[in-house]
Amino acid sequence: MTKAAFICSPDLWQRGHGAIHPLKPERLQRTYELLAAYGAFDSQESMLVESRQATPEELGLFHTEEYIEVVHSLSRGERRFNPRRYNFGPGDNPIFPEMYETEALKVGSTLVAAELVTSDQVDVAFSFGGGMHHAGPAFASGFCVFNDAAVAIHWLLQKGLRVAYIDIDAHHGDGVQNAFYETDRVLTISLHETGLYLFPGTGFVEEMGRDAGHGYAANLPLAPYTDDETYLWAFEEIVPPLVRRFQPDIVVSQLGVDTHYRDPLTHLCLTTSGYVAVVTAIKELALRWLALGGGGYDIDVVARAWTLAYGVMSGQEFPDHLPSAYVEKYGKGSLRDPEKPGISAELREQARRYAEAGVAALKRGLEI
Ligand SMILES: [Zn+2]
Repeated sequence: MTKAAFICSPDLWQRGHGAIHPLKPERLQRTYELLAAYGAFDSQESMLVESRQATPEELGLFHTEEYIEVVHSLSRGERRFNPRRYNFGPGDNPIFPEMYETEALKVGSTLVAAELVTSDQVDVAFSFGGGMHHAGPAFASGFCVFNDAAVAIHWLLQKGLRVAYIDIDAHHGDGVQNAFYETDRVLTISLHETGLYLFPGTGFVEEMGRDAGHGYAANLPLAPYTDDETYLWAFEEIVPPLVRRFQPDIVVSQLGVDTHYRDPLTHLCLTTSGYVAVVTAIKELALRWLALGGGGYDIDVVARAWTLAYGVMSGQEFPDHLPSAYVEKYGKGSLRDPEKPGISAELREQARRYAEAGVAALKRGLEI
């Protein structure tokens, strides 16, 4: 059985972006509660490990000193800085009480996971509160204040490791791509809904890295209504060949589940079955694996999908009927999607052709 760790603290879900914001802290609480109800942390091979807050020095591996101070100050309700200069304000990136502590805890969780994996205490660690892939060095973006993935990858680079980053969130992993766009020590791969329709509007095939980093960024944009079959085909065509050629010491993956057909913010049409197949494919590529959370805005789907993902990581198979403790609190349901989304043959075919064109262009561009 694989040795796995799940990095968690109730402080991850005490505070959040506000009642009307899609990134609801309950996503994390329900995921933890579902895993706990299944007894997912009861075996000796599966560790539940406490999160810690990242220090300012650690945040500084990617973020500017000024920005770290700005987040700290805004979080305390001070108005020494103009929030708009750093992309804070009503909408995607609101300021909220204890924002600094909450967001630094997500980064700390990812660093705890990185420490456990690099010291070979576990094969895989899941920082499910992390995966905040849009934040820039000196600005918030797309619900992300601190970019835990970029901080952790810098930390891994300091240890001399080569890192492959695989991002399966429905949105392009722009913040992480930009952070390592000019280096050949980090391979970034992002599969996402095309930027023609979805935030952040980037992540096209032509974005392949710059200077020494040329050939070390890969993007596969997908059309709305892309289903399990097309997604898995495209993933297998692109990701395993690129990762095997790069020979990373560690795989970092962002496992956002806003690709799901019930997600309210996006238009891809994966099911939990497709999601599990992709997570399993990542596991097969990774001797050492740092797994991060990410997007996903249907709370019920997030809890079920990340429970299934942790099952893949730790080699546990959970029964389909939800545990009674969870059902009493949140209502009935099954762990795996009981049905498939209804997509017309025409839309399915359009999405397949779009993926085929993207895969062909990417294979040419990166000589896969
Ligand atoms: Zn997303």
